[in-house]
Formats: sequence, structure tokens, C-alpha cells
Amino acid sequence: MKYLDEYRDGSSTQTLVDLIASSLRGSWSIMEVCGGQTHSIVKYGIDRMVPSGIELLHGPGCPVCVTPLEMIDRAHAVAALPGVVFCSFGDMLRVPGSRGDLLSLKARGADIRIVYSPLDALKLAVAHPDRQVVFFAIGFETTAPANAMAAWMAKRQGLTNFTLLVSQVMVPPMLTAILQSPANRVQAFLGPGHVCTVMGTAEYEPIASFYRVPVVITGFEPVDLLRGILLTVRQLEEGRAVVENAYARVVRRDGSPPGRALIEEVFEACDRKWRGLGLIPKSGLRLRPEYREIDAERRFELDTVETPESPQCISGQILRGLKKPVDCPAFGRECTPERPLGATMVSAEGACAAYYAYGRRQEAEEAKWPT
Ligand code: SF4
Repeated sequence: MKYLDEYRDGSSTQTLVDLIASSLRGSWSIMEVCGGQTHSIVKYGIDRMVPSGIELLHGPGCPVCVTPLEMIDRAHAVAALPGVVFCSFGDMLRVPGSRGDLLSLKARGADIRIVYSPLDALKLAVAHPDRQVVFFAIGFETTAPANAMAAWMAKRQGLTNFTLLVSQVMVPPMLTAILQSPANRVQAFLGPGHVCTVMGTAEYEPIASFYRVPVVITGFEPVDLLRGILLTVRQLEEGRAVVENAYARVVRRDGSPPGRALIEEVFEACDRKWRGLGLIPKSGLRLRPEYREIDAERRFELDTVETPESPQCISGQILRGLKKPVDCPAFGRECTPERPLGATMVSAEGACAAYYAYGRRQEAEEAKWPT
């Protein structure tokens, strides 16, 4: 297949659904790791196309959703400082912290700018040597090479007014944490297509083998997702648990060696807190000691603030695949994309936002109160 439309073709999707149905014997719970996959699954109704023996659980692969509230508060504290130009991807501006969100701070006069790349922030630092430019470096391994490149270039250029506020996380330790949870329901993963474009597939092999869970690296279009589900179901039914690549048009086993080398040059593994999941050992990236002068947390000596979640929000259980957005009493009532209580409603990739955008609340209401 060559064109995007072909990955949304009705007859191809129906063929795959039929193959899944003919392969299925038992009942299986499969977690899609990426927020982009969740969005497509809900948008195209893939969870309703597959046979009822398959339950799709929505994983924590949305970078905005898993950024801890404390980090939002730190971003708020830095952005409020005089002389700072705070740069971020747009999604992060609407995530509420204990001091409000960055968008409200911008409305009150803080110099907060939406950028599309950390290199745009770097250009601002070059253009404004009298200002401190800070980039909010969040995300999974997908964003890490560009963030590493910005740090590497700033160091080479000797910039003293550019820093990164780093909240980078990595997928494999998160999968391990989910599988080790006593409440775990996940029996297989649709692996993260974009992350594997950078990191490759090899690091998932020990997870598949040790925990006996299939990991099928999967893309984001309906045909990609259904093919990923088909390969997963076949493994589960045959009692196999290996890594398979159903996104081979993009992903190679060794990923992007230059991208991995750049990450390795600039970052090192560290323990990292995830929103909804808590502290996961060695699941984050921080700047190596040679790059510490580019670390905004050191430059601005930020306090550590413990920030409680909204007591109504069950996004932690949603991110672990234990609940669905429609199980949350606040879904679509107190919590909407306009007034989000939790991060899974803020980001377009969040499960709650996807359910809201594609009418799942209305359907849940109608199921409770049939006309
Ligand atoms: S609907 Fe809102 S309050 Fe409920 S889990 Fe989702 S983000 Fe949290």
C-alpha cells in the first residue's frame, strides 16, 4: 500500500475484522500503548468492530497526560519569572496545575510562547541574548532526539540563556510497571509505533519473553491497528509471546541509530514520577552532568511542590487500563475539554478527550436511560 487512504479502506478493514474473528477462541485484554492509537481506535470505532472477546485497554502513552502536576507547577513558576521567555508545545498550556494553567499565566502577561520544535526556542535564545529562554521538554522517546539536539547545539554555541525543563519518560519501564501491578489486566500490548521509530523494537524482547506477553508494534491507521490486533490475537491463541513488527513501513529493529546516539550523548536514565502511575524506577531521562548548565531546574532553583490530583479524577486508573473514561462520574459533566479536571481530558491524545470528541458520553447516557 502506498497512500494513506488505503490504510482507511473499508474492504481491507472488513477483511482484517473477519480474520480476527476466525482466529479468536478465548477472551483477551489488549492494551494499546500510544495516545495516538487510542484516538484512532475511538475515532474509527475499532473497539466496536472487533469481536466482543477482545477488550481494548487504553494505555498511558500520551505525554501530556502522564506529565506530573508538580512539573506543571514548576513550569508555571519558571514562566512567571521576570526576564524569562517560556516555550512549550501548545497542549501543555491548558493542563491545570495547583497554580492554574500556563495559558492563564500568559493572559496575565507572562512571556509564554507556543513553538513547534525545541529548535524554534533555541532560535529565540540566539535572537534575545538578554532574556532567559526555557523550553518545556516533555514527551516519550519520540521527542527526545530533538530535545537532545537543542541541548547539544546550545552547548556547542556556548549559549548561556537557553535551558530545558525536562520531563522525558520512556515506554519500556512503564510497560514493566503495568505488568508488575497486582491489579494488572493487560495480556498483550499494541506497541508504540512512533517511539519504536526512534528506539527500535529490540528493547521489548525481554519484556515479551519474561512476562509472556505478546508485543506487536503497531501504527495508527485503521488497517495498521486491525493488523496489529490480528497478529496479537494469533499469538495469544497459539500461546506465543514475542515481539512482532506490524509497522514495518516505518519501524526497524534498530530504530534510528543516529537518534539513539544523540539521546545517549545528552541524557541519562533517572527515576521519574508519572501522573496516575507514581514513581517508576529508571523510567525517565535527565540531562547528563556535562549538560547540567542547560537544566532549568538547576538554573532557577525550583522548589519541590507536592500537588494533589482532583479527588474526582480517575485518570490514574484509566492510564493503567483498569477503567474507561465513561466510568468516571465527572466525565462530560464537571470535566469537559473546555474545563478539564484531569490531563486525560486536556490532550487531544488523552482517552477522556477522545471519548468526549467522538460522542461516547451520549452513548453511555443512552445505554443507562433507554428511550
Ligand atoms: S473525565 Fe476528567 S475527571 Fe474523569 S478521569 Fe477523565 S480527566 Fe479525570
